[in-house]
Amino acid sequence: MNFNLEIEGLSKTYSNGVKALDDFTLKIPPGIFGLLGPNGAGKSSLMRTIATLQEPDEGSITLGEIDVIKQKDDVRKVLGYLPQSFGLYPKIKAKVLLNHFAVLKGITNKRERKSVVESLLIRTNLYNVRDEKLHSFSGGMKQRFGIAQALLADPRLIIVDEPTAGLDPSERNRFHNLLCEIGEGTIVILSTHIVEDVKELCSNMAIVNKGKVLLQGDPNTAIDNLENRIYSKTVSKAELVECRNNYSVLAEKLLRGEHIIQVYSDEKISDGFKLVKPELSDVYFNQIYQSNNY
Ligand code: ADP
Repeated sequence: MNFNLEIEGLSKTYSNGVKALDDFTLKIPPGIFGLLGPNGAGKSSLMRTIATLQEPDEGSITLGEIDVIKQKDDVRKVLGYLPQSFGLYPKIKAKVLLNHFAVLKGITNKRERKSVVESLLIRTNLYNVRDEKLHSFSGGMKQRFGIAQALLADPRLIIVDEPTAGLDPSERNRFHNLLCEIGEGTIVILSTHIVEDVKELCSNMAIVNKGKVLLQGDPNTAIDNLENRIYSKTVSKAELVECRNNYSVLAEKLLRGEHIIQVYSDEKISDGFKLVKPELSDVYFNQIYQSNNY
């Protein structure tokens, strides 16, 4: 059975004239797929369209045999969606709210519902706080609760939009582990502007900007393709301005008063530059740099 999500020629212009999606085409296989792009790239517009919450002007989306734009009810049955921010009822206990969501999802049999709710609380590591009210939850606990509700219908497609923003490192780690467990056999789309999230989790990714796909594929291959092309140099403030004019400066880091720059070059450059091992952040910043400058 074909479980791919296929997006073809998707375009969307909002009423204020902003073109958020511009002939966007992408094929997403099962596993955790990273959708990486800066703020304003069009990620949320794409996520909302896939989640059947808004209509595109043009293009098609299919999930296996389902036409996502026409068969909204069929999509909703197999979709788990964790939006960027979602309202939680602060005075309700976790278990009670999850049970309520399970009723809304159509799990009418009481015994079955109890068992589904309990197993999801265990899976998301929230069982021991199941009788706590949601206002007492940390950011990470809220996100894990969001995943629990997204998993209620045993979805084939899960969309998580900027899930780790604001989480501390251990909560982020725990959230990553949870996504890895879910990722087997399910399409999980992780929309993020955090390169590290994609590096740690995704075997497939797309870099997007200005409503378009700039690069698509396996992160390691993309990194290998930059071998012998990324240089680094520590420069003064005056040199920094000069370098910006002369080179493709992908990243600038201020470290103890010194500027460390990362440069892309097809040709060998000396001039005090040191060849460095490329990383996924170089792949990302190179794509964004090219799309902003050409
Ligand atoms: P991302 O999730 O990558 O930050 P968005 O899809 O939220 O990107 O936004 C893409 C562009 O569309 C941005 O310029 C944003 O301001 C604009 N935009 C998003 N939603 C709306 C809307 N409802 N009405 C008008 N413009 C919007």
